[in-house]
Amino acid sequence: MRNGWAGRGARILACIAAVGFAAPASRAADSVLGPEAAKTMPLADAHFHVMPWMDIAQVIGYMDRNGIRWAGGAAAVGPPVRDMQAIAALGRRYIRSTGQVQWLAIKRQDSVEALENAGGPLFKQMLASVETDLRDNGARAISEIHVNTLQSAANQIVYHKIDAHAPTLKALLDLAAKYGRPLNLHAQWDDDTAREFQQLAESNRNARLILSHCGSFASASAMRELLEKNPNVYCDLSYRSPPQLKGRAIDRTVFDSALRSDWMQLIEDYPDRFTVGVDDVQSWGDYEATVRNIRFGLLANLSPAVAEKVAYRNAVAWFALE
Ligand SMILES: [Zn+2]
Repeated sequence: MRNGWAGRGARILACIAAVGFAAPASRAADSVLGPEAAKTMPLADAHFHVMPWMDIAQVIGYMDRNGIRWAGGAAAVGPPVRDMQAIAALGRRYIRSTGQVQWLAIKRQDSVEALENAGGPLFKQMLASVETDLRDNGARAISEIHVNTLQSAANQIVYHKIDAHAPTLKALLDLAAKYGRPLNLHAQWDDDTAREFQQLAESNRNARLILSHCGSFASASAMRELLEKNPNVYCDLSYRSPPQLKGRAIDRTVFDSALRSDWMQLIEDYPDRFTVGVDDVQSWGDYEATVRNIRFGLLANLSPAVAEKVAYRNAVAWFALE
């Protein structure tokens, strides 16, 4: 067992003691969900991209095999028709999102600078289109909006850094509040981004603001400060585990077959703020390995009620899932 990590089941307490963490009073300290119950708990995959290599007809089969009841919350990668195919194939199990395609179109057709210009014609078009999707087309999130990805971009088109409290993002947050749907930002946790992100959160406390990948490489203590100061901030734990994390990025790991004890304590203290997600994967093997780590590394090591919230109850509430 590595120092600073909580292993499965009963080992957790010994490990917490070993690294000097006290179990928080709110937690049923002597009881974690355990692998048996973690195996069958329903999941809401709240940050999932249908990938170009996926046969859309196979997605629902893999969801079923892996106990995933709902998936989405982020756009399909590829042309917009892929999202339409996912909607047709997954029906109400697809957590439909809007905004990413329009957001990246501004950069493609104009520039990175245009992503900060709320008065620009392309952004105005985006706002109208996102509002239509929220109001009329069943979109349940504005997501995934790339803000700062300089060390966490999946590809060139999402590679940039803008001000995390730009007027454009404030306008999207206001729209999120108006329709009661979350805004999900990919904002890797550089110092300036962290400060700006909190200013954005303050600008409209009625909106739910989700931080993708819990800040990509943010520490548990940085997230604790964020959650404590900002009651309207939430985060998804996608892309914080292997096999997606490898090589030099491995130190961003929150869980693999075990859960870091500082993160365990944080999630136990803020059980309403976290969801899980598979995000983007390059094979069905990686998809299933990611879900295995979610079940046996993360959920099994949380107390049962907290595990249930992180597994699906929070996502059901945030996205009003049926
Ligand atoms: Zn993503």
